[in-house]
Amino acid sequence: MDNKLSKKDNFTNFIAKTAKALSWTEDKIKEELRKTFGIYDPNNEAQYTRHLNLLKDEEFQNNAEEKERRRKMANEQYGPEKCPICGAPTKPDLDWYNKYSKVPGWTCKAIGIRHFLWWRANNIRRYRGEPLAFPELYPVEEQA
Ligand SMILES: [Zn+2]
Repeated sequence: MDNKLSKKDNFTNFIAKTAKALSWTEDKIKEELRKTFGIYDPNNEAQYTRHLNLLKDEEFQNNAEEKERRRKMANEQYGPEKCPICGAPTKPDLDWYNKYSKVPGWTCKAIGIRHFLWWRANNIRRYRGEPLAFPELYPVEEQA
């Protein structure tokens, strides 16, 4: 009896907490969980959270306003024209612009996404005043 009650409380708390975090209604979260997992099991909360975060990210990526913003960003200003690591030209890469990274993504035309990631890693160190992890031929600071 007590066990059942606490399981129900866990469920209610989890749904409320998640709804708040994702700005979704509790009904939407229940529906998404039911579709994919069926019955609620408190031991699977980490898995539920991962699944819901992916859905939220998809929603963000497919949002019309967001798409328009990303398209504009790609055309106008997407980062350095020259790869800071090797100096090759760059092109926008919208896959690297998402809810975790508000900085427009770009790809190095010579080496690919690796130089963008190296540059991102460097920026964290630059921000902390630490030595760079990867040598840069054309240092460019990330624009916030
Ligand atoms: Zn490069």
